[in-house]
Amino acid sequence: MAADHNAFITEATIEGDADAEGPLAGATVAVKDNISTKGIETTCGSEMLADYVPPYSATVVERLTDAGATIVGKTNMDEFGMGTTTETSAFGPTRNPVDPDRVPGGSSGGSAAAVAAGDADVALGSDTGGSVRCPAAFCGVVGIKPTYGLVSRYGLVAYANSLEQIGPIAGTVEEAAAVLDVIAGSDPHDGTTRDLETVADADPAASYAAAADGDVDGLTVGVPTELFEGADERVVDTVEAAIADLEAQGAETTEISLPAVEHAVQAYYVIATSEASSNLARFDGVRYGHRAESDGNWNESFAETREAFGAEVKRRILLGTYALSAGYHDKYYKKAQDARAWVRQEFDAAFEDVDAIASPTMPVLPFELGESLDDPLRMYLADANTTPANLANLPAISVPAGEADGLPVGLQFVGPKFDEATVIRAASAVEE
Ligand code: GLN
Repeated sequence: MAADHNAFITEATIEGDADAEGPLAGATVAVKDNISTKGIETTCGSEMLADYVPPYSATVVERLTDAGATIVGKTNMDEFGMGTTTETSAFGPTRNPVDPDRVPGGSSGGSAAAVAAGDADVALGSDTGGSVRCPAAFCGVVGIKPTYGLVSRYGLVAYANSLEQIGPIAGTVEEAAAVLDVIAGSDPHDGTTRDLETVADADPAASYAAAADGDVDGLTVGVPTELFEGADERVVDTVEAAIADLEAQGAETTEISLPAVEHAVQAYYVIATSEASSNLARFDGVRYGHRAESDGNWNESFAETREAFGAEVKRRILLGTYALSAGYHDKYYKKAQDARAWVRQEFDAAFEDVDAIASPTMPVLPFELGESLDDPLRMYLADANTTPANLANLPAISVPAGEADGLPVGLQFVGPKFDEATVIRAASAVEE
């Protein structure tokens, strides 16, 4: 099945609890290959972990199988989540099921492609700077990036841990929300999870899935000019038409300005590469994965082991190490943290007046295979609209808004902290 699009790195099954009841009982789930699965390879799309088999499963995997869902495989991804196209994978690129000459987006491209191609009912991705929303947009499916702290990261191999969350990918908003109902909630294994009852725990009738009721009557939607400027005209037209349709359904839209988001990509790449340089230091040939045959001293063996990283991962470790080095720390890392605080404040202020913020998810249509690989800066800039929600730790969703030239276009909603219900509701109205 999966060979056509190269959506899976490993096809293997973890059976769900056969006695479970609920919306996910009997559902099939594809899991991104940076989410640990006990006894099943978890490669992160990297040569470094090609043979790594975790001794435990991530909390999200256990919650899904307890809810009766069956894991059907581990999906292809940009190496360690670093990319926007799934082309930096050591296992070859995934093809977009909508158009096999195009990328599926990334870094959770295999997960979105698996859902779009019908290889799995739903999927899990991880979103550090857009990696759930971007592939959802490019493959014409739905992706949710939860509020930081809503979903456990226990068992997620860290790329940039202050930014990332595991999130669902599905064919419809309601199905994605049903997955979120299962995976959300505090976890004693992850001290950054918020100790709050999930919506469903507090009131089963008020689940995230129930919020997908399409009722936007009276909802105020902010439309930030900065997230439309510079985007492909075909994308802008499609998203604007979907927003006009929301107005016809009773939503009120208002133009807003978020000047700080213009600095989001720069701040994101300094923070993400800094955290990555630290997180990836553990791949030293001693504790995990690949180890180079070396008869040199420890430094030499460490250096030779790390040749197993691909070019994009090496580039980011170098950038992050540089940004954190003595003498440059204030110039780059501290400045990026200031920009992050500024982005967060602007969103907080905006949510005093609007319920949700709408924009294109990606400013571009899906790249052709190979198109952006030689030009990392071009690839980074494609994250302009997704990275603000990670910097501000806010919930965000991408929902199909329509097509342009036969290619899917995603509309993104960002909402206030822990108000997943509002972005789910708004997105479900776009589907109508
Ligand atoms: N494209 C972004 C990056 O390369 C986002 C990746 C992600 O969310 N994992 O960092």
